[in-house]
Amino acid sequence: MKRGTFQLMKSVNKSLILNTIRTSEPISRAQIAKKTELTPPTVSSIVKELLEEELVVESDLGESQGGRKPTMLLINHDAFYVIGVDVSPDSIKCIAGSLSGKVIVRAEPKEISKRISSEQFLDELIDTIRSVLDTLSTPDKVMGIGVAMHGVVDVENGLSLVAPNLGLTDIPIKDVLEKEFDTIVKVENDVRAMALGESWFSTNGHIGSMLTVNMGSGVGAGLVIDGKLYHGAADLAGEVGHMTIDLHGEVCTCGNRGCFQTFATCDAIIKRAKAALIEADEKAGMAKGEAEHLVHDQIGYQNLTIEDIYHMATAGNEILANVLQETGEVIGIALTNLIHVINPEKIVLGGEVCKMSAFILPVIKDTIVQRGLTADAKQTKVDLIKLGHDATLKGALALLLVEIFE
Ligand SMILES: [Zn+2]
Repeated sequence: MKRGTFQLMKSVNKSLILNTIRTSEPISRAQIAKKTELTPPTVSSIVKELLEEELVVESDLGESQGGRKPTMLLINHDAFYVIGVDVSPDSIKCIAGSLSGKVIVRAEPKEISKRISSEQFLDELIDTIRSVLDTLSTPDKVMGIGVAMHGVVDVENGLSLVAPNLGLTDIPIKDVLEKEFDTIVKVENDVRAMALGESWFSTNGHIGSMLTVNMGSGVGAGLVIDGKLYHGAADLAGEVGHMTIDLHGEVCTCGNRGCFQTFATCDAIIKRAKAALIEADEKAGMAKGEAEHLVHDQIGYQNLTIEDIYHMATAGNEILANVLQETGEVIGIALTNLIHVINPEKIVLGGEVCKMSAFILPVIKDTIVQRGLTADAKQTKVDLIKLGHDATLKGALALLLVEIFE
């Protein structure tokens, strides 16, 4: 579908009806009129347009209320595609999804080399998207492309302002992709896209306020208020990884000391775990040089992974259990700070660090109970992200879906 057709759908009543069908399907014309408070003739005429555009289909699932069975309406989820792209610091992933977010086609992830120019990066991006479009039987049914990009993004202009791990700035993603593919393109910070996706797919966009915090190679957050992402005055909202937790803590990549990120990324946890294990060995009387090379439970400390830490802690390693306990407390403190600033209805946690949720989630919740200012603050819901592995890609799809349906 070309941009012209897409724009047609932006009439307020049409979006309202489309979204009512999406959230309540199967639904009859009479029920739509009742829910939206639009007149039956208005509903009929807009539904007729939606049927002609094949965005909506009829079925006969309706329950009779005494007369003949009403015709029910459904979203024609599989008739169109949206393209979702996840650009992480080291790879480009791309899927084509249905209007319900089902993955139809998935590209082979493409690795990005660290020494890449903006032009080379954009070529790689185009190639990856092209590889997905080429496998679709009806590429003309693509309604747009959503790009979830790591780093700082100028959302209005679809510009990657700073992609720190690639060392690139001011990449004109939206301009280049719109010219290349002649379709609507949305670009958003990856964690914010993930937050939008979680709100869209797990609550139908029906939650007052939800904060999604991602803890992986970095720490970021996205805030969705009434179904809309909050960006702040200069697209900086959600940089919670650089909230100061410890005045005298370690130096962060941003140059400040003791940022949340110096505690809650995978690397930070691994670093503290190694230090704690080596310290314990030293206390046990080993010479310093030897301790660093010690193989503990057949795992060399040098190659310690998040999975190792989890397995060793589960198997009863108290030193590592303590490191995870402390990690949970720090995350709990950071989230309590955020609760006091934002007061979200719900907090959702994502990222690799959540692989250790069995240890850290109960501690996080306890810490919030201890530190929250009011009973409501203490009871703020904290859950793991429901979208799982594809959370960022689904978020990229959601960037378009909110445009189509709302
Ligand atoms: Zn920092």
